[in-house]
Amino acid sequence: MGLATQVVTAGIAAPVQGEPFLRGPVFAGPYHAAGDVGDAPHLYGRMSNPGFERYEQALATLDGGRSVVFASGMAAATAVLQTLLGPGDLLVAPNDGYPGVLQYAREHLATRGVGVRTVPTTDEAIRRAAKGAALVWIETPANPGLQVLELGATIAACQEAGARVVVDNTLATPLRQRPLDLGADLVVSSDSKHLTGHSDLILGHVSGTDADLVEQLRRWRTLAGAVPGPFEIWLAHRSLGTLDVRLRRQEAVAVAVHGTLAAREDLEDVRYPGFSSVVGFDLGSMARAKRFLATLELVAEATSFGGMHSTAERRDRFGDGQVGPGYIRFSAGLETPGDVVADLVRALDATG
Ligand SMILES: *Cc1c(COP(=O)(O)O)cnc(C)c1O
Repeated sequence: MGLATQVVTAGIAAPVQGEPFLRGPVFAGPYHAAGDVGDAPHLYGRMSNPGFERYEQALATLDGGRSVVFASGMAAATAVLQTLLGPGDLLVAPNDGYPGVLQYAREHLATRGVGVRTVPTTDEAIRRAAKGAALVWIETPANPGLQVLELGATIAACQEAGARVVVDNTLATPLRQRPLDLGADLVVSSDSKHLTGHSDLILGHVSGTDADLVEQLRRWRTLAGAVPGPFEIWLAHRSLGTLDVRLRRQEAVAVAVHGTLAAREDLEDVRYPGFSSVVGFDLGSMARAKRFLATLELVAEATSFGGMHSTAERRDRFGDGQVGPGYIRFSAGLETPGDVVADLVRALDATG
């Protein structure tokens, strides 16, 4: 089935006379559950919810594995790190990817005896660092720098070296890249971005093909209490059906923006990996980047990406040191491409 059909139908049961296509949220702390624990389909909201199960079924179809939903992308990421790593293990993680993973590793894993080795997002550096590692964390395209890897070959090389491989697939989404098909042990996603796409949710998930490993992560979720709310899950599942249309429009906007910006002589280092909504470019200095952002009218200054509004930010304002002080991360929304391009061009011309 085509991708557009998959996102519309994923996790949605066959229609039932008089029922909505997507069942409404079930708001429950405790459920009525008489008798032995094994007799009740649902006992308590931290353990299970019918909405989680439907959304997880949808994600499992799209990722090609089994899925567990979490309260945020970081809740998903830390569940994996905590479950797979113990004292004496070595983690390899990118120093130019999503900074939360490395910050968590340094503050909560290194202090408990897990070694942390950082690498730039290149195939060679990752393959070289994998020797002796228990876990290699990969992000491609990387956020914010948009580096792209030869994913299948690099996963295989890391596994040959004895490491498990986790891929953060937030930027690409399963519609553009399916890391489990390429051999990854687990795929992690922040569903706060493209997957839900309306800038109104914080959610995440993990998928894998090893049933035991996925159950360990579900067990972690229950014990750590890293569960989303029923209404968030319902909104997420409702939003998933438009993922294909949204991505196509965002890519049309991103392609138009990239084409215009790459042709300008007053910009350095215009990056677009060719899929997803994110375009990166360097305005050369913090001062010009700040003036540019303040001059935009349609494009809002905001962090994150994948939402329906076009946004931009000076990524180095967080002080992670992954990109230069003039680097702008632009996220394409669903507007008419010419309107977005015109706003960017006007702001660039006004702040040249
Ligand atoms: C946003 C993001 C995360 C963290 O997700 P949250 O939902 O904000 O917790 C992790 N990885 C990448 C690549 C992200 O963009």
